[in-house]
Amino acid sequence: MSVPSPDGQTRRRRLLTGLRPTGKLHLGNYVGTLENDVRLQSSGEYECFFLIADYHALTTYYEQSRQLGGNITETLLDFLAVGIDPEKSTIYLQSLVPEVAELFLLFTMLVSISRAQRIPTLKEQVRDLKLESASLGLLNYPVLQAADILMVKGEVVPVGKDQSSHIELTREVARRFTQLYGPVFPEAEALIGRVPTLPGTDGKPKMSKSLGNVILLSDDARTVTAQVKRMYTDPTRIHATDPGHVRGNPVFVYHDAFNDHKDEVADLKRRYRRGQVGDVEVKQKLAAALDRFLDPIRERRAYFAQRPQLLEEILLAGSERARAEARKTIEEAKEAMGMTYFLGSRGLVAAQH
Ligand code: ATP
Ligand code: MG
Repeated sequence: MSVPSPDGQTRRRRLLTGLRPTGKLHLGNYVGTLENDVRLQSSGEYECFFLIADYHALTTYYEQSRQLGGNITETLLDFLAVGIDPEKSTIYLQSLVPEVAELFLLFTMLVSISRAQRIPTLKEQVRDLKLESASLGLLNYPVLQAADILMVKGEVVPVGKDQSSHIELTREVARRFTQLYGPVFPEAEALIGRVPTLPGTDGKPKMSKSLGNVILLSDDARTVTAQVKRMYTDPTRIHATDPGHVRGNPVFVYHDAFNDHKDEVADLKRRYRRGQVGDVEVKQKLAAALDRFLDPIRERRAYFAQRPQLLEEILLAGSERARAEARKTIEEAKEAMGMTYFLGSRGLVAAQH
């Protein structure tokens, strides 16, 4: 879809996806966001930006800052492995576009402390990571995310359901900015994935890097089999002859999401409900389906993993492109705010409006 720009030309809508380099990416990241990213990139209708959000990683991993370098490479490899194409899209690193920190600072004035405290992911993070309390950095997580999105004037943001409250805050920031200073920023829309929240292999409601209940996009066949074997299924079922529950059973959620043999899935569900199939067979077929799904991803990952020079070039070139956008946006924002002190003819004196 294209939108008319002031000069009468049409430009493609902008899409932004950000991932924290807190570890390798997993199946949840795939169905929550990456799948939509690749689809919309290929449609050619969107100008796509893919961000590796290392400042965001610091909000919970500030003590492990030295590990970020390695994680950034892994995240980049995962992006490329699923089919994000640096020829079509801009892949960049947050800390190589420091202008985002400036925009973030401007935005912090537009969000009250109590509003930031109402974001549900904040409480979840504090609970899941067993933090004593949230740092200011963590409280500001969604405000920094608003800066990421609006810095490139993102209009579509593919995310898992857990992030929808952050996009709502981004919309509020854009609206508030428009009210106060004028229309610089669009109102971004969240695009929730086909599976809004993929459960963890342990049966917890969400697969998360930080919870370790994951199947990684980079896992080899043996690891996938081992993970699937350990997977949580229907706790009420003791023998293969007991009728089992399919709904809410993570093994079947994964079958639905990843098994391309739909007849096989329907047959397994029918037999499971009647107590005519054991967990072993259901899990073997799931592991095989996951391998079919992951094989092309593993292949592309291996290709790029052998080319460290190319990885560096991709990230540097993307970050330069993103930075040029960021500079333009900051300039527009400051102009709208009347912060044009050095642009006026009288030097330090602010330009009169
Ligand atoms: P962390 O535990 O470090 O927060 P994460 O596994 O939640 O990691 P993120 O980098 O925070 O991953 O999220 C990247 C994207 O993937 C976001 O759009 C998020 O909503 C989505 N996502 C993460 N986990 C899932 C899941 N289990 N199901 C669907 N989408 C998910
Ligand atoms: Mg997360």
